[in-house]
Amino acid sequence: MMRIAIAGAAGRMGRNLVLACSDTDGLELTQALDREQSPALGTDSGTLAGIAENKVLISDTLDASAFDILIDFTHPSATTGHLDFCKQNNKRMVIGTTGCDATLEQKIEETGKSIPILYAPNMSVGVNLCLELLKMAAQVLGDTVDIEIIEAHHRNKVDAPSGTALKMGAVIADELGRDLNECAVYGREGQTGVRERGTIGFETIRAGDIVGEHTVLFAAEGERIEITHKASNRMTFAHGAMRACRWMETRQAGVYSMQDVLGIT
Ligand code: NAD
Repeated sequence: MMRIAIAGAAGRMGRNLVLACSDTDGLELTQALDREQSPALGTDSGTLAGIAENKVLISDTLDASAFDILIDFTHPSATTGHLDFCKQNNKRMVIGTTGCDATLEQKIEETGKSIPILYAPNMSVGVNLCLELLKMAAQVLGDTVDIEIIEAHHRNKVDAPSGTALKMGAVIADELGRDLNECAVYGREGQTGVRERGTIGFETIRAGDIVGEHTVLFAAEGERIEITHKASNRMTFAHGAMRACRWMETRQAGVYSMQDVLGIT
C-alpha cells in the first residue's frame, strides 16, 4: 500500500484528489496538507471532500515518516519547498501545479536526479492524447498554416496562459523546430500588423466556472482544423494523478511526464 500525502488538500483540486484517492486500490491517504493560514486547518479532509470522515486532518506540517509520495496541486511558491523536503527525505512527487517559471522547472529537473518526479500541467488522459494528435497535425501541416491556441478557465485561475496551453505550444514548436520563447504571441491589441506565419498565438478567456477548455487551430487558405479538449469535471485530473501515483511506485529517480505514464511517447 502506497501512503499518499496531498498538498493543497483544501483546494478545488485537493478535494477531488482526496475523493479519488479513497476510490483507488493500493493507495492510502495518510497526510492532507494546506498552507499555514488556511481556514481549513484541523478539518477532516474526507468531510471537506464531501465523503465520509477519514480521520486525516488538514495540517500545515509534512511528516516524513507518514507518507511515500507527495501529490502537489498548490502554487509554485509552495512547490519549491516541497521539492526540498522530498529530496531531503527521499520521497516521490507527483506535481500538478502550474505557473512554474523557468527557475522552478530547472529545480524540478535538478531534484529529479535524486528522486522520481512526475511533472504534468494536465493529468487528463484526453489532453495527453491531444498532445500526440497535435504532433501529428504539426508534422503534416507544418509551416503551411497559422497556429493559434485558445484556452478558457474559471475566474479563480491565477496563471495565464494555462500550463496546458503552454505545453501544447511547446509540443508544436518542438515538432516544427521553433523556439516557443521566440515565436509565441500572447494576446493582440492595437496596430499589430499582419500575422507572421511562424508565430504561435495564445488567447486566454477567464470566466465563471469553466473547468478547462483548449482549442488548437491550424488555419490555411480554404480549410482549417481544430483540435479541442473540454474538461467538464476535475475528477478527470484527479484520476490521472492517482494513475500516476501507481505508475511511480516502481520508478527510479528521474522527471517523468503523463505521456510516460500512459505509454504514448
Ligand atoms: P486552489 O487555489 O483551489 O487550491 C490550491 C490550494 O493550495 C489552496 O487550498 C491553498 O491554500 C493551497 N496552498 C497554497 N500554498 C500552500 C502551501 N505552502 N502548502 C500547502 N498548501 C498550499 O487551486 P486549484 O484549482 O486546486 O489548483 C491548484 C493548482 O493545480 C494550480 O496550479 C492549477 O493550475 C493546477 N491544476 C493542475 C491540473 C493538472 O492536471 N495538472 C488540473 C487542475 C489544476
